[in-house]
Formats: sequence, structure tokens, C-alpha cells
Amino acid sequence: MNGYSSFNGPSTSAPAGAAGGAAPTGGIDVPLGQTNQPRLLVRSLNNQETTFHLSGVELAYANSLRRVMMADVPTIAIDQVLFLQNTTPIPDEMLAHRLGLVPLISRGVAKGLRYTRDCDCDEGCYYCMVTLKLKVAFRGADGEKFMRVTSDMLEIVPSPGGPPPPNPYGPPPDLSEDDRQIINNRDAELGVPVGKGQPGVAPILLAKMGKGQEIDIICKAYKGIGKHHAKWQPLSTVAFEYDPYNKLRHTTHWFETDERGEWPLSSNAVFETPPDPSAPFDYNAVPQTFYYTAESVNSIPVRSIVEQGLDLLVENLASVILAVQKETGVDEDEDENGGEGLENAGFVEPDFGDGVGGAGQMDGYGGQQGYGGYDGGYGSGGGGGGGWAGQGSGMSPLRR
Ligand SMILES: [Zn+2]
Repeated sequence: MNGYSSFNGPSTSAPAGAAGGAAPTGGIDVPLGQTNQPRLLVRSLNNQETTFHLSGVELAYANSLRRVMMADVPTIAIDQVLFLQNTTPIPDEMLAHRLGLVPLISRGVAKGLRYTRDCDCDEGCYYCMVTLKLKVAFRGADGEKFMRVTSDMLEIVPSPGGPPPPNPYGPPPDLSEDDRQIINNRDAELGVPVGKGQPGVAPILLAKMGKGQEIDIICKAYKGIGKHHAKWQPLSTVAFEYDPYNKLRHTTHWFETDERGEWPLSSNAVFETPPDPSAPFDYNAVPQTFYYTAESVNSIPVRSIVEQGLDLLVENLASVILAVQKETGVDEDEDENGGEGLENAGFVEPDFGDGVGGAGQMDGYGGQQGYGGYDGGYGSGGGGGGGWAGQGSGMSPLRR
């Protein structure tokens, strides 16, 4: 899955075969059809916020997507502040902290800027840093008692070591391929505080200064990820939900007198079938559809964050597969030749044609049966578990 996929394939009119197995009642056309691919339904999308449903993946994958979007999609944020002057009552450290949390426009930063750790420069340069200046003083004009210092007063200044200006008469500048890629992908507004100059967007208050006070600072904004500091998170929130009726009993609702009254159903419940109180508990059931609402801080459009999150997840999973192959010496081709190898290892492609409570669900996920084959595979020392089993020992090949 690469970015937003469209699931507009031929729809079959399976009565209860909608995504998640539920006939939607919310007036939204949920794609139907027999497919073993993950499905994404975008319910709403604008620059700042999106709501979408993901089905055809396991809970761990769905939650990983949420985490990757929050923690691994790069943005830029102010990371170092040089104080030349600060005579306001707000301490340097506090002002620096506030500056770090100001969202800066980071479109295209994944390819349009280098991590400073990967750069050859000593103290930040055009290719790994955006420099901002904040120089304000309050002289007490207009009879005001104090002045508000806001994020709109941050000005971008050129970082050192930028590309030479184009010379139509001379040879093209001598740039490495990497530098050239950064120049081509760099957004013209990279590093501008979000909302600056936009009418109707309130600027972020950084400090208030009295008469005769001034601030003169230089800020260095670097590329980073939310895993290292929350100021690099591109999203303010990701709401994530599955199983709104709690049919799987993954949580316990503590209540005083009335469970439903004290735990109102979420808005996503309209996309699922209500539970049948007389049906026995299905302990093999697994979550089918995951409901996300992601809200960007506007440094990157939310669509791009979701797309980058999906790409990063694919990349991360691929690196795990490669690491496992390197460790075990088994590659994909061998598994295919081995016949039953991964097929029996629980990696059965899911079939989501069946309804939520149906017995087909277990088969769909390759549930118990599949994992049984996995154990048998490396426990039997070559007794038919495919690739890994042939390696002889009863120990997992990953642990040798
Ligand atoms: Zn640099």
C-alpha cells in the first residue's frame, strides 16, 4: 500500500459484506467487494484534518500507522536559540522553549532538507537548517503599556552556505546530486511560522514586553521527528478507535448504574452492526475496521502526513524483513519453493468478504490454524514446516 489507494474497484452487492462487515447507516458509501487488500475510506479531508477508515489490516499494523504518523514523519522546529539581548521578564530558557513549539511550515522537508547529523557542515547550513531572527523593541509609543511579541515577528534570514546564484553566462554551479535534490525539493516557504501573514489566523504569543525592553535573538530550526521531541510532531492528535460497541471486550466499562448511559456510543458506531445480546461471546473475533481522525498542526498538509506515514511503515517493515532474512539466511524465493513455509506460518492473506461475527473470520485471518503451522514449522526440525524448519534445531531461527 503506497499512500492513498483508491478502492473503487467493482463493487459486489454482498448484503453484509461492507468494510468491517457492517452495513453502514450513516449515509456514507463504504466500498464493498471481494478483496484481500487493505482498504481505506476517506470520510473527510481538508488541509488540516482528515477522518478515514482503514480495514483489511491487523490491529498492530493500524496502531503502528497511528504511531508512525505522530512520531516518524519529519518536520522542522527551532532547536537552538542564540540570545543577543533579552531584557523582558521572561527567562531565556522559557522563551527558547516556547520558540521550539512554534509550528513552522515543513512541506517537502522529507526531501527538501537534510538532517543536520548527516550534513558535512559545522554549525548548520542552507542544506540542513533554517535560520530565523526575532528582533523587537518596545519604545512605549501609542500610549500602550506593553507589547505582545508573537510568532509573526519571526523573520527568515539566509542560512550560510547556500547555493550560488545562477549565472547564465558561466558554467553551472558545482553541486553534488544530494545538494541538487535538496534545492529542487525545497519549499519556498520552508520555516515560515504557520499562519504568518494569514488573515484570521491568530499568531502565537511568545512574550509580553514593557516599555524600554527588547529581544534580539537568532534561532536555528532543524529537521527532526516527534520520537525525539514532541515539537517535531506534525500532528496535534490522532483519534484512533475500533470496535465502538466493545464487542471484543478489549476494555471494561466501569459504571455506577447504567453502562450505556455513562458510556455513550461514539459516532463511529453507525458503521458497525450492534451486538446481539443473545449471541455467545466470540473469543476468536478480531477488530476489522479502524477509525482515525488526524489533525495537523499545519506545518504539513494532513494528507501528506498520512501518505508519508504509510510509506515509512512500508519501509520499516521491509527493513525488518531484510534483517530477518539476513539473520536466517532465508529469502523469499526459498520460502516460495519451500511451499508450505510462510503459508502455514500464519501469513495468510486475509479475506474480508465475511461478516463480523461469522465463522469465516478465523479463516480470513489465518487465525489459529495458521499459527499452529508456525509452531510446527520450527519445532519439528524439518518435518514439513517449510524453509525455517529445515535448519534443524527446535530453536527459533531468530534466536540463534
Ligand atoms: Zn549543514
